[in-house]
Amino acid sequence: MRYEKLSKVYYELSQTSKRLEKIDILSKFLEEIPKEDSDIMYLLEGRIYPSYDERKIGISNQLAIKAISKATGTDGKKVVLHWKKTGDIGEVAKELIKSKKQTTLASHILTTGKVVDNLRKLTEFEGKGTIEKKISLITELLTSASPLEALYLVRTLIGDLRIGVQESTIKYAILKAFFKNNKDYEEEIQRVIDRSNDLKEVFEVAREGKIKEFEKIDLQVGKPIKAMLAQKAKNVEDAFKHLGKPIAIEYKYDGFRLLIHKREGKITLFTRSLENVTKQFPEVINYVKEYVKGDSFILDSEVVGYDKKTKKYTDFQAVSQRIKRKYNIEKISEKLPVEVNVFDILYYDGKNMLSIPFEKRAKLVREIIKEHPYKLISSKMKITDDKKVVESFYKAALKDNQEGIMFKSLNAPYKPGRRVGNMLKLKPETNEIDLVITGGEWGSGKRSGWISSFNLSCKKDGKYLEVGKVGTGIGEKINEENKVTFDELTKLMTPLIIEEKGKNVKVKSKIVVTVHYQDIQKSPNYESGWALRFPRIAALRPDKPISEIADLNEVEKDFLEQKSKNYKYG
Ligand code: AMP
Repeated sequence: MRYEKLSKVYYELSQTSKRLEKIDILSKFLEEIPKEDSDIMYLLEGRIYPSYDERKIGISNQLAIKAISKATGTDGKKVVLHWKKTGDIGEVAKELIKSKKQTTLASHILTTGKVVDNLRKLTEFEGKGTIEKKISLITELLTSASPLEALYLVRTLIGDLRIGVQESTIKYAILKAFFKNNKDYEEEIQRVIDRSNDLKEVFEVAREGKIKEFEKIDLQVGKPIKAMLAQKAKNVEDAFKHLGKPIAIEYKYDGFRLLIHKREGKITLFTRSLENVTKQFPEVINYVKEYVKGDSFILDSEVVGYDKKTKKYTDFQAVSQRIKRKYNIEKISEKLPVEVNVFDILYYDGKNMLSIPFEKRAKLVREIIKEHPYKLISSKMKITDDKKVVESFYKAALKDNQEGIMFKSLNAPYKPGRRVGNMLKLKPETNEIDLVITGGEWGSGKRSGWISSFNLSCKKDGKYLEVGKVGTGIGEKINEENKVTFDELTKLMTPLIIEEKGKNVKVKSKIVVTVHYQDIQKSPNYESGWALRFPRIAALRPDKPISEIADLNEVEKDFLEQKSKNYKYG
């Protein structure tokens, strides 16, 4: 297919903020994709491989500028000036290609296949001469591009497509295009997406229009799968009411989620955002090899850090640095040891366990694990129908520095990726919310050289809306009470800058943070219509995907709950 056609679809999608209109545009387009071009499913999300694949395009603004300069014969400095003025590097490419096209004849026709080929090659280079090779591949694409194609090529390169399409938009478009919008199939399509995490694979089966065929797409050991998520319980009674009695209760460990895969002796570790972290946790690989019986399996677990001397559990922020760490791994694993708490099993020795009741899965977990505290154990669990037992278990969990407890329904299946009602969490009342950093302000005086204030946003239909700014809860020195530091945040944000005006920057929405706050107010100052009062960054969440940050509805819900509490207590 011509890339021009896809670019027009991107453009159409960017012109409406209405979800139904987006679904309509997309579903018509899906019907037109030729069989040999199903890689377009990746391009629709600004990718070239499935979301879990580590080969990412990741081109910096600087490199894009060099390629634009070369392709259009414009001086690099001029390109930068133009960028500072418009704040959008894609628009810069579009304008410059437009003026160039007026003087020279269009050369080649660009196809989606050629775009995918060149973008894939970009991820393969290593070592000397990499930059030049990348620039020449991008230049090749840009010199064949029309202005509109150049806009979306550059946006794809820097990872900022701005078309407001989420995985759910694509799901509904598939339902509409190939299953006559039959809502009975929605759940099935969602499930296959969560199992596969590969929209091309799902699309290729979906286009045949036979819902039964989705069974062919099974989970695969070694390929990441989305974790099952929990909902909140108001209190113990509430948990009993929703899940019945007896019920399983477990510690809610204050760490990060880890899915452990083993196949043919090879162990792979994934976070809940499907990131492969096998290299970061060599000691965990050894624990799994030694203490878990079985040739192939997928285990679900929470990894917690503990203090080497006191053996006390630490909070998440303390171990979070291990997730992204790429160097001196041995040293940091010595300094920040972890314990793996296994609580579920999705696959065991050739058998998919997703629809086996939780009680049986939990039993199997305990049969195949040799318990080694401070290394690898099964989660602390009790089965009970007694409120008092739950309450004392809850107290013990908090005393052990854990977050609270989980409730699990004994006969529930495992539903990957779903915030299901058969797994509930109970934590002490804190006003806590997960948000994404979308911008900030460069500091002055003592804080010059650092970004010192951060714009926090929630999500709404594929867009990010600000709910506040934060400059507190952040440390100036490394290791200051385990706080996130200005330096750390500045380093993370700098390569993500997409717009800079005076002291203000806008960044790509990538950095997820857990924020504590006092309360929420209505506010005309932010586009979300809400403002958090006294927000404080509690932790960086490199383990959480953007899809899991709070939705605008949750912000509104928290506001209403806060109001009803105020009402009750005067
Ligand atoms: P939240 O992040 O607040 O939505 O809480 C759900 C998270 O708690 C899960 O994604 C896990 O990472 C974590 N967790 C800790 N302990 C457990 C447990 N015993 N069972 C399930 N999830 C747990």
